[in-house]
Amino acid sequence: MEYPITYQKYEEGLARGEFLGLQCKSCGSIMFPPMAVCCECSGSELKPVPLSGKGRVRTFTVVRVAPEGKTPPYIVAMVELDEGPYVIGNLVNLDPDQATMDLMGKEVHLGTRLVGGDMYSIGDVHALTFSFVEQH
Ligand SMILES: [Zn+2]
Repeated sequence: MEYPITYQKYEEGLARGEFLGLQCKSCGSIMFPPMAVCCECSGSELKPVPLSGKGRVRTFTVVRVAPEGKTPPYIVAMVELDEGPYVIGNLVNLDPDQATMDLMGKEVHLGTRLVGGDMYSIGDVHALTFSFVEQH
């Protein structure tokens, strides 16, 4: 089986600020990060699609007791991308002490930040981040 987007290609895209997803040719669902088969219908005919990198906050939590190597407090959010997939990452341009339920539904832009590898990982990777869209 040949993957339309390998993990390496996905990671290289993130490094360039590009968000590569996959669209199922059978049902039209979009997956991000890329997966081997469609998570809706298990179809294996998938084509690469660039995503807009925009979405809305659907839920979040403020982490005050962090795992080893992380510095609390920080915000972990779940965002629904405009194309449909839900992704998890850190909300980076807001003071965690200012996080309230007003965040729900707010528009954010997807970004990345390089996270150093540790004893549990494969090495440095680009983790997803979210930032609020500037309101003018
Ligand atoms: Zn499908």
